[in-house]
Amino acid sequence: MRLLTFAHDGAIRIGAMDGDEVADLTAADPDLPTDMVEIISEWSLPRMQSALSVAPRLPIDDVDVLAPLEVRKNIIAVGRNYRDHAKEFSDSGFDASEKQMIPDNPVVFTKAPTSVIGPDDPIVLANDPTGTTDYEGEMGVVIGKVAKNVSKADALDYVFGWTVVNDVTARDLQKRHVQWFIGKSPDTFCPMGPVITTRDELPDIRESWMTTTVNGEQRQHAPISALIFDTETLIATLSEVMTLEPGDVIATGTGLGVGIGMDPPVYLKTGDVVEVSIDGIGTLSNPVL
Ligand code: MG
Repeated sequence: MRLLTFAHDGAIRIGAMDGDEVADLTAADPDLPTDMVEIISEWSLPRMQSALSVAPRLPIDDVDVLAPLEVRKNIIAVGRNYRDHAKEFSDSGFDASEKQMIPDNPVVFTKAPTSVIGPDDPIVLANDPTGTTDYEGEMGVVIGKVAKNVSKADALDYVFGWTVVNDVTARDLQKRHVQWFIGKSPDTFCPMGPVITTRDELPDIRESWMTTTVNGEQRQHAPISALIFDTETLIATLSEVMTLEPGDVIATGTGLGVGIGMDPPVYLKTGDVVEVSIDGIGTLSNPVL
């Protein structure tokens, strides 16, 4: 299923995409939680599938698609997880944390939950005082079960599904403060969605490609299979030390073609539209304000 959270008639609802229409699962099963994290925790896919069969359909243009889930804590993110992007980032001189170009272990940081916005919500440049706002198209892993000390072999059992994340970054803040957290966390700097595609529907995310465009011009086009540290490795590495919980999101890293990779760097400006697409999930589109 391709699940989404949406607003309609002043209420938050859970839906599933059916072609270009939204199946209103909340209308079909009023007892279904309207909080996606609760749904993920209860793992009620069979129940949602029965709701899907009888749910009324709404035209996608009649609903307001929100971020697919309300994150409870920081988004976990991974830096320099594609070789060609690691090189462009290194060449740009923006990586204050760099010890070597290709990391031996995942470079893990987080983004504040208050940075999350939904599809079509504006990325607000005023939240970056340095005027160096850049995009990073990424595949997001949505955790489905409590995970601690999970092996690589078992890791995919803990994945609820996949989403699209734009790890928007204030480059000068990322560099200036050494720690990446502040440069990654301005309000509106974490667009997410439009849906979570459940793992049963998209069992091998490595077959998908991620594409980013700015105003229709292609800037990034990377196979998920090129991740240096794949989903299994990230879950094993993180869960060895911390408990992952249902609804946690791991943004797995961006590919070649970010704005700082250009000479001179090209940053986002008011009026731009950034779109990140991943096969099997959808397109996350956000205007820049
Ligand atoms: Mg990133």
